[in-house]
Amino acid sequence: MLEKKEQLYEGKAKKVFATNDPDLVIVSYKDDATAFNGAKKGTIAGKGVVNNRMSNFLMEKLEKEGIPTHYVKELSERETAVKKVSIVPLEVIVRNIAAGSLSKRLGIPEGTPMKRTVIEYCYKCDALDDPMVNEYHILAMEYCTEEELKTIAYLALKINAFLVKYFASINVELVDFKLEFGKTRDGKIVLADEISPDTCRFWDATTHEKLDKDRFRRDMGGVEDAYREMMKRVLG
Ligand code: UDP
Repeated sequence: MLEKKEQLYEGKAKKVFATNDPDLVIVSYKDDATAFNGAKKGTIAGKGVVNNRMSNFLMEKLEKEGIPTHYVKELSERETAVKKVSIVPLEVIVRNIAAGSLSKRLGIPEGTPMKRTVIEYCYKCDALDDPMVNEYHILAMEYCTEEELKTIAYLALKINAFLVKYFASINVELVDFKLEFGKTRDGKIVLADEISPDTCRFWDATTHEKLDKDRFRRDMGGVEDAYREMMKRVLG
């Protein structure tokens, strides 16, 4: 029986607890929402439940596709047992359609399809505002090894190929998303963190209506409804 022990960490959207198994931790999803590196704060009622259940559902599917993840077992609406990993300090961003910071940086309208999938890396550091880095920075700063970076890029593209197809089947365009990877005690790279409307841009494929955290970031209203709609489409 897995026992929940002391809190190890509290992040912006999740808490992490130790357990009686040294290789497992329990993540607990909160309704707290932040944007722009914590400058904007709020709550999205029910978000923790949506993100926990959706992320677990997708990680189970990815595991079946041969992608290693941290997912172990859903314990309740908001809590999940996951493998304890050390997080590679990178946000791995995958883009299929221009939006957000890429549209701004390169001056291309949101909604422009990318001719090839784009991967970007940001160094996870709140104090520096998660600066974008390239492969050279990552290796020079030793955020991970060259082999780990190859694995991360390979897995990110494989995850994207699967998710694009999956979301298309529920009439959702997967515009872009952020992944985080972790290293298990035995050195294996696995997908960690979450896949949810907090970390992905989802557009309805017919109306192009936004069904993700951009509704919160941009004060568009209908935030809870968008999360609920995504949960309905994914989990039925
Ligand atoms: N993203 C995220 N956490 C971050 C930054 C980005 O989950 O700290 C996700 C975001 O939801 C989007 C994708 O990564 O799906 C690309 O985000 P972008 O670089 O355009 O940044 P934003 O416009 O969200 O600031």
